Amino acid sequence: MSLRVHAILPDTRAEGPGNRFCVWVQGCDRRCPGCAAPYTWDMEGGQPMAVDDLLRQLEERAEQDPLLEGVTFLGGEPFLQAGPLARVAQRAHELGLSVFCFSGRTIEELRASNDPEVAELLAQVDVLADGPYVQELRSFDRPWVGSSNQRFHFLTQRYDPQTFLARGNMVEVRIRPDGTMQVNGMARF
Ligand code: SF4
Repeated sequence: MSLRVHAILPDTRAEGPGNRFCVWVQGCDRRCPGCAAPYTWDMEGGQPMAVDDLLRQLEERAEQDPLLEGVTFLGGEPFLQAGPLARVAQRAHELGLSVFCFSGRTIEELRASNDPEVAELLAQVDVLADGPYVQELRSFDRPWVGSSNQRFHFLTQRYDPQTFLARGNMVEVRIRPDGTMQVNGMARF
C-alpha cells in the first residue's frame, strides 16, 4: 500500500495542538481560488511513498519524542488517499497519538461518500477541520483554518473544543543547511 506525499514534517508545533508529525498529501481536485498550497493539487506530483515507510518514520519519531501528541493530515486532499491514511491513523492511535485531519470536503459530503475507505479514515479522526478555503470569507480569527466557513468537528472525546481552539495561530520558520527557508503554520503575513 502506498500514497503520494507532498511533504512530511516530523516535528512541528504549528499544525495542531502539541508536538505533531505532519503529513501533507499530494493531490487535490477542488482548486479553490486563493488556495495557499496550489503546488499540492497535481495528482502526479509529490513523491510516492510506501505506507510501511511512513509508519516507520512515525514510530521512530514517537520513540524519540515522548511528548509527541499526534499526527496531522493536510494537503492536498487527505480523503483522496483515505485508505493509506486510515492505516497511518490507526497506527497513530495504537501509539497513543491523536489524529487531526483537514479536508476540502464538508463532513456531510464525506459521510455521503460510497467509498468505504473514506468512512474508514473518518472513523479514525479525532478532530476534522472541514470545508474548502473560500477567499471571500478569509479569516484568521481561529487557529489553523483560513476562512470562516471551515468548521471543526470533534469526533471523539480526545479534545475539549474550548481548549483546542484557545490557542492562537503560529508559524514556524526553518532555515535549511542550503540557506533556503521553510515556513509552515497559519498567520496573517
Ligand atoms: S481543498 Fe484545500 S488544498 Fe484543495 S484547493 Fe481547496 S484550499 Fe487548496
